[in-house]
Amino acid sequence: MKQDQALKVYNTYSRKKEVFEPHAAPFVGMYVCGPTVYSDVHIGNCRTFISYDVIYRYLLHLGYKVRYVRNITDVGHLENDSDDGEDKIAKKAKLDQLEPMEIVQKYTNGFHEVLQLFNTLNPSIEPTATGHLIEQIDYIQKIIEEGFGYVSNDSVYFDVEKFSQSHDYGILSGRKIEELMSNTRSDLEGQSEKRSPLDFALWKKADEKHIMQWKSPWGNGFPGWHLECSVMSTKYLGETFDIHGGGMDLKFPHHECEIAQNVAATGKNPVKYWLHANMLTLNGEKMSKSTGKFFLPMQMFDGTTEVFDKGYSPSTVRFFMMQCHYRSTLDLSSEALAAAEKGLQRMMATYEALDQLSTGNQSEIDVEDLQQRCYTAMNDDFNTPIVCATLFDAVKQVNGAKDGKIKVNQSTVEGLKQLFETFLFDIMGIQSALGQEGSSNDKSSALVELLLGLRKQAKADKNYALADQLRDQLAGIGIVIKDTPAGTEWSVQ
Ligand code: AMP
Ligand code: ZN
Repeated sequence: MKQDQALKVYNTYSRKKEVFEPHAAPFVGMYVCGPTVYSDVHIGNCRTFISYDVIYRYLLHLGYKVRYVRNITDVGHLENDSDDGEDKIAKKAKLDQLEPMEIVQKYTNGFHEVLQLFNTLNPSIEPTATGHLIEQIDYIQKIIEEGFGYVSNDSVYFDVEKFSQSHDYGILSGRKIEELMSNTRSDLEGQSEKRSPLDFALWKKADEKHIMQWKSPWGNGFPGWHLECSVMSTKYLGETFDIHGGGMDLKFPHHECEIAQNVAATGKNPVKYWLHANMLTLNGEKMSKSTGKFFLPMQMFDGTTEVFDKGYSPSTVRFFMMQCHYRSTLDLSSEALAAAEKGLQRMMATYEALDQLSTGNQSEIDVEDLQQRCYTAMNDDFNTPIVCATLFDAVKQVNGAKDGKIKVNQSTVEGLKQLFETFLFDIMGIQSALGQEGSSNDKSSALVELLLGLRKQAKADKNYALADQLRDQLAGIGIVIKDTPAGTEWSVQ
């Protein structure tokens, strides 16, 4: 172990920071709710997945053997997260006149490509809801057998009121069942097939027109949205597992319903540590697909939004995110991104210049202290902004050494290199890319020019897909290109 403090994580369930003690160390089971693949992921979604990427990376760094499960929601997530709207994927399939699975494939591919540009690690298992229908049907049967599910008009609902008589529904989100009841009482109007408006669908009956449906003991239908996560998390991680994550907006009802389903089916509280990542906002408002207020990652990379006058590389955007704690909201702005870009360039330049420092016998830079401060920050609920501040402190000291104001020796230089490699590259996942040196490297420049020539040819051939692919993949390694009237310009971010 490279450090001796315990890792503490903020557990939404207890509303406290707790020492992280997995059920069966060194093994850790972590489940994170993945995207609903009916459209391109926006930069807000990416923030959540990047937050968990850092958590995953840090657990690996500490030596844990992590099984990281992140699902793909490809059925059952209805409009407005309700039980009555249209299925988001079926609706898009109809609109685009495609098979639902074509929609799923297209946006799953896009999701993977974007996360790769952001240098996130792949999960260990990426299960889909449609791939686990048998397990979901079995699970519903268990919930019915335990007396917490009922069939109504060929759909199956979870009986929240009954559950709350013996269990604490609302425990995760801090909601009180009485308040929830009184807030929703008027929705019922005596004609719903649910016993209570708080009840949620485990299985929904599908009429003939519904394009995504499967056979079940209750007739043709499809599973409710919350069910897949209860089923797939416990299938791969066991009935009780260590970490469950997702965006803050999923706390209620999604995660609350998940707990209720698990407890109803197995009698066990499934999750030891509930972690929630906070939202990316734009002018203080949550970035969201449904309100139309969002940016796609590509728009940020190539600068084609009305908010930014230029593009920012994936590394810059990721570094910008690292400067905010994952449980705080983060507002996107030109100024903040420009500052992150400058900061990252300064940090990379310092890292690259380490080998050129003139060293002596003595060192006035205390690398151990810098390293310990970074560990202390990460152990305090993954506090990446403090890690960034500590690395900037290191940058300042190295610059002092460059100017000859601070003494430094060779072993300190090695220690500093390791500090950046560990915390900036390995844990915060910033790509070392070409860096400062690469931009002036003749061969690299020639290679970029060669690729730009190919892209020009692709455009001339009207092969826009290839042209865009070249642009996006260059952006992925930190080379951002901009088409201007005078030709294509490129820069290393
Ligand atoms: P969805 O595809 O809507 O199910 O969302 C996928 C993930 O992105 C969920 O964990 C959401 O909590 C998260 N998410 C949605 N909007 C934002 C946002 N503005 N900022 C951060 N995370 C978000
Ligand atoms: Zn989920």
